[in-house]
Amino acid sequence: MNSRRDFLQKFTFSAVGLPFMTLAGSQTLSVFDFDKAPYQGPVLRVAIMGLGSYGTRVAEAMQASTKAKLVGVISGTPSKVKAWQAKYNIPAKNCYNYENFDRIRNNPDIDAVYVITPNALHHDQVIRVAKAGKHAICEKPMGVNAKEGQEMVDACKQANVKLLVGYRMHFEPKTLEIIRMRKEGELGKIMFFQGLTGFKIGDPSQWRLNKELAGGGSMMDIGIYAVNGARYMVGEEPVWVTAQETKTDPEKFKEGVDETIQFQFGFPSGAVASCLSTYNMNFLDRFFLDGQEGYAELQPATGYGPIQGRTNKGELTQPHKTHQTVQMDEMAAIILEGKQPVVPVDGAEGVKDLKIIDAIYRAVKTGEKVALK
Ligand code: NDP
Repeated sequence: MNSRRDFLQKFTFSAVGLPFMTLAGSQTLSVFDFDKAPYQGPVLRVAIMGLGSYGTRVAEAMQASTKAKLVGVISGTPSKVKAWQAKYNIPAKNCYNYENFDRIRNNPDIDAVYVITPNALHHDQVIRVAKAGKHAICEKPMGVNAKEGQEMVDACKQANVKLLVGYRMHFEPKTLEIIRMRKEGELGKIMFFQGLTGFKIGDPSQWRLNKELAGGGSMMDIGIYAVNGARYMVGEEPVWVTAQETKTDPEKFKEGVDETIQFQFGFPSGAVASCLSTYNMNFLDRFFLDGQEGYAELQPATGYGPIQGRTNKGELTQPHKTHQTVQMDEMAAIILEGKQPVVPVDGAEGVKDLKIIDAIYRAVKTGEKVALK
């Protein structure tokens, strides 16, 4: 990139006034072709459902996306709709609420809906989006159990639309470098993964602490990163789960809302994982992957970045890019061009995590080792 710019600068000094140059070979280019040509491929036109804290972040990040464009909103709060219309130049005909958004079916200017509402609402909302004939991108967790997830996958399949889950880490460069090293054998046989994910949650009245809207507690919200990370770091699906819950504040973390869960996985190769999910400890965002010939470590591992990491070979230096910008470009390419990501982000991937979370909750309840098919 820099060398191209340097060359262009040098070239402009020596060739001012020359509109064309001939490169080695026979290609004739306008000098201006040395600057990146504006993107002219297909663009995914997206409506965001749920204009909350993460929806706002995605909307901001999408402004820098080449292949995805924010064109619509679905919200229960008219004042937010008004503000977003003004900020993002969204026409009134692309604005909906939770009662009338099925009408999006008749709107040819919207291709996909990105559902960014509380967890327990995703299932019904995604199915309605599918029935309206639009592609769905759904935030994690895609539903509150595997049954819901599978119903969402089935509905999207039946409607012939794509369903993707907002797994932004699947596009993160340092994460992908570790996956490459593991796949190419640079870490040797993988023996162990540790995933620590958590933060101390505030306001006890928020939906994240309401089982009806959250579907659970920290496991649904943040522990899912360790579940998902264990799978893409080790590169296998777990065959058994054990789990233990600790609750220090039953007033704040009511029945069905987990505060802290430690969980362990066994993989077919014999590798094991030991993870922790919590709403009651700060500074927990760390992945560690141990192989017989090397190790890789990320800390922070799943925050908005910059992600930092190292392996036995040294610091990871891949540059940071806003996760949600990269995610939206990549998801547009998946939906519009059939691009295959290194780590899947489709509905089936989301169901795999939910099956494991179901098993973790079962293991907590029974105290038993739960086998996974
Ligand atoms: P917020 O509470 O900030 O926003 C949720 C929005 O959903 C609300 O602002 C509201 O928007 C809408 N909504 C609809 N019905 C309800 C309801 N009954 N109660 C509350 N809100 C409702 O949550 P977040 O944005 O933090 O989280 C939303 C989703 O995004 C969750 O599934 C979460 O797990 C996921 N997430 C993912 C992250 C990631 O990094 N991938 C990071 C953070 C969250 P409106 O007023 O427009 O209707």
